[in-house]
Amino acid sequence: LVRLRARLARSQNALGKGLLSLLSADRLDESTWEEIEDTLITSDIGVTAATQIVESLRTKVKVLGSRTPEEVRGLLRAELLAQIETDQDRAVRTEPHAGVPAVVMVVGVNGTGKTTTTGKLARVLVGDGRSVVLGAADTFRAAAAEQLATWGSRVGAPVVRKDEGADPASVAFDAVSRGIADGVDTVIVDTAGRLHTKTGLMDELGKVKRVIEKKTPVNEVLLVLDATTGQNGLRQARVFAEVVNITGIVLTKLDGTAKGGIIVQVQRELGVPVKLVGLGEGPDDLAPFDPEAFVDAILG
Ligand code: GDP
Repeated sequence: LVRLRARLARSQNALGKGLLSLLSADRLDESTWEEIEDTLITSDIGVTAATQIVESLRTKVKVLGSRTPEEVRGLLRAELLAQIETDQDRAVRTEPHAGVPAVVMVVGVNGTGKTTTTGKLARVLVGDGRSVVLGAADTFRAAAAEQLATWGSRVGAPVVRKDEGADPASVAFDAVSRGIADGVDTVIVDTAGRLHTKTGLMDELGKVKRVIEKKTPVNEVLLVLDATTGQNGLRQARVFAEVVNITGIVLTKLDGTAKGGIIVQVQRELGVPVKLVGLGEGPDDLAPFDPEAFVDAILG
């Protein structure tokens, strides 16, 4: 966790340093406030949140009169937290119920990090002593099933897969059946993320979910978003939210961007909490999303 925090801090530092130095100016005039707002918008936090933060900070700074650097930091910390915290549960539901495995579907556009996240999540669970089966329901690219199989043997989780072009729903069904037969704790199903048509995607993801639900409820539908893709990622998120009931967001590649502000926008738009963050390509680079640690990483 310490290592992950350090990595997060490195990527988010520019944002925090910039904001703190702007806010610490002797006189905060109109152009400085604008600069603060621009800096926030550059981090992909969104115009609405940036405006709210700046307005609230202005009021509080005015009330304070003179400000110490600690006060400035405290004010900014509280504003950022207020934008990120929600009262929704951020725990990923992976606990089996009454002897039936929990099922997690991982959805998102290709390249966002679905397969990697599936592998990393399995690693966390297996590390906690849980048994896991992985379903390679992205059957459109042979490479995807291959990649998941590599993760499976790396983390010690069997992978259910079929030939390229097989029906994704039948792979999901087989994975869940296998999970039930073996009495495992959690089945994680990696899906295909072709966004060529909304109806195509809806049909496919809907079918995968329905077929799983013939056997057992789907506990989580995690939407994987690449933090470096900004507004484009947000557009993708909207499409997925329309076609399937998302229960949590995984924001990947936060290690490679200072645009972590996208967390605020995506939660606000979808009304769903960010549950996990990806902080690298390695098996241990997945962490629960902790708003306080995130804000502290930004502010250094
Ligand atoms: P998928 O097509 O959605 O299944 O995406 P993949 O899991 O194949 O990931 C696409 C690329 O992103 C791969 O090169 C991964 O190693 C990389 N990747 C995934 N998650 C992260 C992350 O959190 N940080 C970084 N730096 N790279 C990541």
